[in-house]
Amino acid sequence: MHVVIADSSQTVLNVISKQLVGNGNTVTSFSDGGQALEYINSDEHFDILLTGLELSNVSGLELCWAADTRNQAAKPSYVIIMSSHSDVDKLIEALDSGADDFLRKPFVEGELLARMRAAERTLQAQRELVRLASTDPLTGVANRRTFFAQVGNALQSQKTQDTAQMLMLDIDHFKKVNDGYGHDAGDDVLREVSRVLSEYGLIFGRLGGEEFAAFMSNASIQEAFQKAEEMRQSVAALKIDFRDIQITVTCSFGLAQQIPDDNVDSLLKRADQALYAAKNDGRNKTIIWGTKHHQTTVEDAIYQD
Ligand code: GH3
Ligand code: MG
Ligand code: MG
Repeated sequence: MHVVIADSSQTVLNVISKQLVGNGNTVTSFSDGGQALEYINSDEHFDILLTGLELSNVSGLELCWAADTRNQAAKPSYVIIMSSHSDVDKLIEALDSGADDFLRKPFVEGELLARMRAAERTLQAQRELVRLASTDPLTGVANRRTFFAQVGNALQSQKTQDTAQMLMLDIDHFKKVNDGYGHDAGDDVLREVSRVLSEYGLIFGRLGGEEFAAFMSNASIQEAFQKAEEMRQSVAALKIDFRDIQITVTCSFGLAQQIPDDNVDSLLKRADQALYAAKNDGRNKTIIWGTKHHQTTVEDAIYQD
């Protein structure tokens, strides 16, 4: 486990680090509260925060709040407060602020390691809950809720000069796969298509049924169109083994470029309209949203309200 330790005493840090590292943990330690806070607020991964209440610059309480903010963002960590008997009021406040457990100073190595094991059990359960709530059980990719949240975050943190692109896709005549080979075959197709499309490194999710979406936070329409075409061709090239047969499928793609005041819904709605046009235009193609006509080539596309 990766443990972040924050304490104003270098001696305490050294002793605890030695015990934790000796038992197979990775340790990052801070004697400065401000640096610890910066670390917790960053994207760095850690499992447990072990902190004293009195630190230089910021208090242990502020570290608890920062760890709680990570938890809200579905990045669970476990917080253990190190306190002495005289700190009881602050300890109560820390527990009310989201700390999970505490250790009374001075403590012995056995107790420290037992608290670590308890933390590991709780964290595993929490992370499993986050995984179950955020992924699609059949394919393992992001579910609709997670996709919307990830795109919402990406749109919010986007630079003003960036333009996002939304791709929506749907497997063509998927009902025939189910009707012809059975529901299990359909499930295998959904898993394989998801696997291939999630390898493109985009924000990607299953919106429902045989419908997926992918999002690029900063790309030109040309780049997005090319990406969609690569994705479309890689699905069409798939030979999905099911019992003694090989199944092939194709997908239709709708592409919409971000316009001012777009949100996830409005962007996805236009991508869906373009997808609908791709279905009507014979399937197995990418169509770019445009107001007057939906277009199959970047050069001809119209992007106006
Ligand atoms: P189109 O080319 O117009 O998209 O036709 P389609 O047959 O793909 O579309 P339609 O919406 O008629 O059928 C989608 C089918 O997908 C119907 C539904 O039973 C099936 N489906 C939805 N979710 C699942 C799933 O999780 N597993 C399987 N095997 N089938 C599913
Ligand atoms: Mg379909
Ligand atoms: Mg569909």
